[in-house]
Amino acid sequence: MLPLRSIPVPALRLIPVLLLAVALLAPSASVASVASGTDGGDGDVAGSSPFIEGETDLPPKPPAPPPRGTRGGLTIAGLEKLYTVAPGSTTMVRVTVTTSSGRPAAGRTLHTYYWEYQGQGERSKERLLTAVTTNAKGRARVAIHAPFSTFGYGFLYYVDVLSRSGSILDDQKFKVKVDGDLPAGDPSAQCSGEYPGPSLETPQAPSFYAVSLVPCDVPGVDQTQALKLNLSEVTSWFAGQTVDGVAPQWLRDGDGSISIAHVVVPFTRYEFGQGTTYPRLEAWIEANLPRTESLAPVVFADTYSDPDDVFCGVTDQSGPSPMLVIPQRECSLYPEEFGDGGQKYIVEHEMTHAFGAVPDCAPHYDGTGHVNDGQSDVLYQGDLDRIAPLVLDQGHDDYYLTNIPDCPDIADSPYWTSPTP
Ligand SMILES: [Zn+2]
Repeated sequence: MLPLRSIPVPALRLIPVLLLAVALLAPSASVASVASGTDGGDGDVAGSSPFIEGETDLPPKPPAPPPRGTRGGLTIAGLEKLYTVAPGSTTMVRVTVTTSSGRPAAGRTLHTYYWEYQGQGERSKERLLTAVTTNAKGRARVAIHAPFSTFGYGFLYYVDVLSRSGSILDDQKFKVKVDGDLPAGDPSAQCSGEYPGPSLETPQAPSFYAVSLVPCDVPGVDQTQALKLNLSEVTSWFAGQTVDGVAPQWLRDGDGSISIAHVVVPFTRYEFGQGTTYPRLEAWIEANLPRTESLAPVVFADTYSDPDDVFCGVTDQSGPSPMLVIPQRECSLYPEEFGDGGQKYIVEHEMTHAFGAVPDCAPHYDGTGHVNDGQSDVLYQGDLDRIAPLVLDQGHDDYYLTNIPDCPDIADSPYWTSPTP
């Protein structure tokens, strides 16, 4: 069982958020006792998530499909486990190949590839990483190296087993999560020059827009493609929850994909890795990112949250539009391959806040901007585990399609798309 954590949330304007799991807390995340209530009742945050199982981030899974890896009569063991590798580092994956009769498949060549997202929903086999041969016991060690240049966002690793004649007998996916701290960065690096925010035209309808903030000394670090996929999954989740399939309205690129502004900021990678940078970064965000009634920023930065107010994500509703910030390193929330866990959940949760949930007139308002009933509610915050799949206002009794007189309903938010006729 994961212990519940409570942290004080001093700022009234902040919708408090979830600390997902002890294992994911950064060392800098000081977690104090219960809030005193002097913040006007915008109280404690406590939560555990079903999306964290032990050391992994995997969400609850449907029953496993029949094991793969038996084509050609060979079985590959060792790929069931989730491997974690830090960006820029290497981990060793041990595999054992056996024949259909259970004997070691000795002298078999294994090729390892990584794939990288190349566009919305598309991947291309990028390059061969390793070629190793199984030993007399059918065993081999495969090095999985996470490229540093992209932070390892959106990678899949595959292993191919070659036949003796060199043809591919099988193609299996490694479960690899790229996680952990980046190399610390260069303490002496400095930013110089101009670092303007994005210049955006006013859209026809009020819209969210996504921003990836990038340290000045590693401007090529790019999570744009992975974020496109991640946010498109978030958007699909909303469309599946709403009447008429309405979804968050986003600024989009010419090809129809969600636009991600890649914005270099006057902070170094080293500073991103410090637990004390957030307040200055937040000030930069407020001064440089467009925020009007028509433009609601959704900000991703691979850094830690406020040392005095630890959060995985936050929604600020005090301005002309809502603004979301996900300090990704705080809770190791990155766009990833593994479905409902991680960043997808936190963005769905925060965007639901951004639409205006939960109003304090809701019957199950818990005093912190969440609901205390419905374990599958994306805004459930209570003592019980959340239950996937998550839904938008379980029971439609608190904030979406409620028909409660004089209590706001997030269906009325201007940041939804129009129903398609
Ligand atoms: Zn929340």
